[in-house]
Amino acid sequence: MRTSEEYKQDLYKLKPNVYVRGKKVRRDSPEVSGGINVISKTFDLVENPEFKDLLVTHSHLTGKKINRFTNVNQSAEDLLKKQEMVRKCCQVTGGCIQRCMGCDAINGLSVATYAADQEFGTDYHKRFLEYLKEFQNRDLVAACAQTDVKGDRSKRPHEQDDPDMYVRVVEKRSDGIIVRGAKNCITMASVADEIIVVPTRAMTEKDKAYSVAFAIPADTEGVKIIARTAHHRAPPEFNIPFNEIGDDENMIVFDDVFVPWDRVFLCGEHKQATMAAHLFALFHRHSYTGCKPAATDVKMGFGALIAEYNGVYDRHNIREKLVELAATAELVYAAGIASAVRGIKTPAGTFIPNEVYANVGRRHAGLNYYHDLEILAELSGGLPACLPFAEDYLNPEIKPYIDKYIKRRSDVPSEKVYRCLYGISNLLASSLGGVSAVAGVHGGGSPVMEDIAIWRSYDFEEKKKIAKYLVGIRD
Ligand SMILES: Cc1cc2nc3c(=O)[nH]c(=O)nc-3n(C[C@H](O)[C@H](O)[C@H](O)COP(=O)(O)OP(=O)(O)OC[C@H]3O[C@@H](n4cnc5c(N)ncnc54)[C@H](O)[C@@H]3O)c2cc1C
Repeated sequence: MRTSEEYKQDLYKLKPNVYVRGKKVRRDSPEVSGGINVISKTFDLVENPEFKDLLVTHSHLTGKKINRFTNVNQSAEDLLKKQEMVRKCCQVTGGCIQRCMGCDAINGLSVATYAADQEFGTDYHKRFLEYLKEFQNRDLVAACAQTDVKGDRSKRPHEQDDPDMYVRVVEKRSDGIIVRGAKNCITMASVADEIIVVPTRAMTEKDKAYSVAFAIPADTEGVKIIARTAHHRAPPEFNIPFNEIGDDENMIVFDDVFVPWDRVFLCGEHKQATMAAHLFALFHRHSYTGCKPAATDVKMGFGALIAEYNGVYDRHNIREKLVELAATAELVYAAGIASAVRGIKTPAGTFIPNEVYANVGRRHAGLNYYHDLEILAELSGGLPACLPFAEDYLNPEIKPYIDKYIKRRSDVPSEKVYRCLYGISNLLASSLGGVSAVAGVHGGGSPVMEDIAIWRSYDFEEKKKIAKYLVGIRD
């Protein structure tokens, strides 16, 4: 297993193909350090006794010790541990742990490649398992590039005016394929070793060229990663864990990129491409039942703390709001547990979450993300949006005034109040807070995508039977 230092050194060796704010940057640029710091936690926490049991598991392929972020789930227990790992890791970073996407992609592909081989006698699954061994042995970090740029939303991939609106195969060669197109909103692609590409939607017979899945090193010739980064605001002298954390969301352009056959996992099998799209989303929504409760935990913690410092922790209006946050966090988490316990073992051996419970959990989290923020804003008053910058708080000429005028309870030192408000300010009024909020709604699929998944898998006929029985309707 790699250390965070080894991960960074490997990353710094990649050829520069990341663009931020008009410049091509190397991966050791401070521009992308926030994301690197987040991913580094997934390596560092392996040594922490509280996390070891969650983060370290054994490969079902090789029996070797692996990081759980590279694991293909074999049982309900695996899914439960992944969910708990995600929640705990996100509590440490105060937001998205950013390494689930690659993990969810390999889980989805493990099933879809097997299904393709069963139908067509291909050898995608064998290739995939070879890749998985490498992925696990090298403890790789992968971005999952699913979301195509999609052009006109009313049209399917093959109907678009510009055929490159969904990533597609433009040439098949004896040694591999050439792909073209772009993916949007891809988290941490600029700080990943690899990019795993899966289709973004259900494909039809006519969308065969778009029914493609593959994995490539992030600096492959022809790949351009255009990063939008977000951070919390403090200067380094204000030494707090929040200060290290950042995020990058990326547009990835595939400008006629060569992918060798051993890295191609689907190429033209539209039914299995559809399956890969659904399964990545399903595993990812199950991961959300870990990370979104953590996001609510963080808001709950700050909300309770500021109420305590304000001297109103025991008031009825405060209690009601905190209980509402707790109910959201634990309902979403409970849905994830149910989804694992009611999951199924597929013929490929991979254990997949129950679709209804994973989707209702993700849906509930998505619908409540802005409401959670609203509760935190209500609990904390207006100051998080108006708080003097940390640079001013550290200025000895100004600090005594700030300390005097942000004072709450006489027994709570002002610095504690400032730090608490500073944390809330980052959740409510920073660039990273804004990105996280949009991710809370759209990451893992917009709300309508969960509705579609629930509509597809929920047994409404059975509910009609209940109604008919109760009023004596016999068909
Ligand atoms: C911060 C963040 C991180 C993300 N990370 C990743 C990642 O790591 N990997 C990844 O692959 N993706 C990622 N995503 C992408 C995410 O999955 C998408 O944003 C989501 O699926 C919605 O797609 P879109 O943004 O293209 O929205 P659009 O498809 O443009 O949707 C906009 C609106 O139009 C509606 N709409 C769209 N099409 C139709 C239609 N045919 N009929 C009716 N209504 C329609 C939608 O319901 C929605 O309300 C991330 C997103 C965010 C915000």
